[in-house]
Amino acid sequence: MTIDWAPLADLIETHDRFLVTTHVRPDGDALGSEVGMAGLLRQKGKDVRVVNASPTPPRYDFLDPEARLFERFGSSVKPAELADREVAIILDLSAWNQLGDMADTIRRFPGRRVVIDHHVSEDDLGATFFKDSTAEATGILVMRAIPALGGSITPDVACGLLTAIAMDTGWFRHSNTRAGTLRAVAELIEAGAQIDDIHRKLFERNTLGRVKLMGETLSNMRTDLGGRVAYATISRDDLLRTGAIPQDSEDLVDFTVSLRGVEVGLLFIEQVRGGAKVSFRARKGLDCSRLAGKFGGGGHREAAGATLPGPMSENVERVLQAVRQALDPGPSAR
Ligand code: AMP
Ligand code: MN
Ligand code: MN
Repeated sequence: MTIDWAPLADLIETHDRFLVTTHVRPDGDALGSEVGMAGLLRQKGKDVRVVNASPTPPRYDFLDPEARLFERFGSSVKPAELADREVAIILDLSAWNQLGDMADTIRRFPGRRVVIDHHVSEDDLGATFFKDSTAEATGILVMRAIPALGGSITPDVACGLLTAIAMDTGWFRHSNTRAGTLRAVAELIEAGAQIDDIHRKLFERNTLGRVKLMGETLSNMRTDLGGRVAYATISRDDLLRTGAIPQDSEDLVDFTVSLRGVEVGLLFIEQVRGGAKVSFRARKGLDCSRLAGKFGGGGHREAAGATLPGPMSENVERVLQAVRQALDPGPSAR
């Protein structure tokens, strides 16, 4: 899929004050794409504010070494402060529920809205969409946009975009990794991204709390449907006991699909405001975004998420039932 960037080039030429934002619980693609887009807009002499509904997980602090780029909505940035923004650029999401506490501000945003994204599921965000659901990461779309919009890939931008692409492809292991992915990475390395340094910053700066939370998650893992499903839970109490923070749960769902024979992996994370965030991962063909869609969530075929109200044990049972139904629909559905 090729995207025509001309309408975005026009918007950028004709406006000065930009708001860049991304999804709640931002990941490497979300934050790395913001670094790329903010870098481009600043090269064009624009006034840019990058404001997110969630805090930046500590593992990504290297993307903003002086803590000047990512601002936190609500606690440090009040909605009224964003009244002067003319264009909102929304990265790596196409669903209202993924905007969290920023949804109201974006709904009421009087200026133009732009979405750059690669998710399958899509709400009408009242935006101009620059979307390619076959793209491995939003970062790759931002990377393609930069030359089309008259910018260049500086070392900082290259570092952000490499982080984005690496994290959304599981460091070039998932099925969305193609020859073109590695060509893009080669270009980013030539532009100054240091792949070894990025990997070390992401994976070799765990806190003891996160490592203990990994242990907790591994210890409570269970299987279902004769080993075709694996799931684990993280409760508020697990966080308190291990000394981990909510952001430390990123990627822990990957352990569920590390078991031999698992087709669907689930991680249930109890939320401060009640209910649970569920991460779905699929191998061997099941469509996670459809499964998550049954619970009001979405995402991609192999990775999706949803948030459910209610107590943990009920949520686990509800989701397991939907997974059993999807994997083993019974004779009448065959
Ligand atoms: P996660 O399990 O949070 O790592 O999410 C896996 C993928 O699904 C990511 O690409 C998310 O952006 C996406 N995703 C997670 N939750 C939702 C949701 N409620 N609605 C739409 N997409 C989601
Ligand atoms: Mn993301
Ligand atoms: Mn993404």
